[in-house]
Amino acid sequence: MTTPAAPIMWPNGKKAAACFTFDVDAESALLGVSVEHGNRMSVMSHQAYGPLVGVPRILDLLARHEVRSTFFVPGYTARRYPDVVRAIVDGGHEIAHHGYLHEPMTGLTEQQEAAILDRGLDALEAVTGQRPVGYRAPMWELNWHSPGLLADRGFLYDSSLMDADHPYELAIPDNRSLIEIPIQWALDDWEQYCYIPDFSGSGLIESPRKAAEIWGLEFEGLRAAGGCFVLTNHPFLSGRPSRAKVLEELVHYVKTCEDVWTTTLSEIAHHTRTLKLTPRSIHRPDPDDL
Ligand code: ZN
Repeated sequence: MTTPAAPIMWPNGKKAAACFTFDVDAESALLGVSVEHGNRMSVMSHQAYGPLVGVPRILDLLARHEVRSTFFVPGYTARRYPDVVRAIVDGGHEIAHHGYLHEPMTGLTEQQEAAILDRGLDALEAVTGQRPVGYRAPMWELNWHSPGLLADRGFLYDSSLMDADHPYELAIPDNRSLIEIPIQWALDDWEQYCYIPDFSGSGLIESPRKAAEIWGLEFEGLRAAGGCFVLTNHPFLSGRPSRAKVLEELVHYVKTCEDVWTTTLSEIAHHTRTLKLTPRSIHRPDPDDL
């Protein structure tokens, strides 16, 4: 059995934390699955809307409310849109690692995944001049060997697991640990808005009002539980005007909750590390013990 993570103390008397995160998947979301998708001009333009229109709109929105965020950027996105990625940095936001070509991680060997991590790191460092401290697996799909690879490369935190309401220290072999800042599919705009023919979605594109209702209810629940609200939005989806408008209403509301610490994931991870929590081990289900 694995023990649950104990609740944590937030700084300055705050009762909960919140972070608005953005995954700038752009074209990589499809190219990582098959480079053949690059032949689809219209679909590529749907993805390009993220960096070209969505990111600038979101940066303006965040600046209006003085909210700093974390942007997870595949290395290829950084190479294709270096000025957009540098504008995110200039806005005071954090850039974190999100694969090189948004590669699906399921079934990859440790060596294959290590090569992707290094390629992504090189691309982000070349464009921003900074080495990221945070990682989010494409599709939130970690392998059991992934945390060790992240620790080998000096990452402070990961944000891809779903087994707690707040950050914790994840134990890694050789007496190491990584901060884990949990996410969940209910707090992802992909499930609400993403329709790409022959790739993703049911064809039902939800109203921004419905998305905002789900996210607002989750926020209030996590706030009452002393947890950490981590919303994941994609600029190619939530950068559209009606969606950005309801997102802005939520950003405004969360930012004005004085009991909630709204900041970047790296700030949350650094705070969690200062608490010197006992690392939790998560055990892979043993096929011989089912
Ligand atoms: Zn992604």
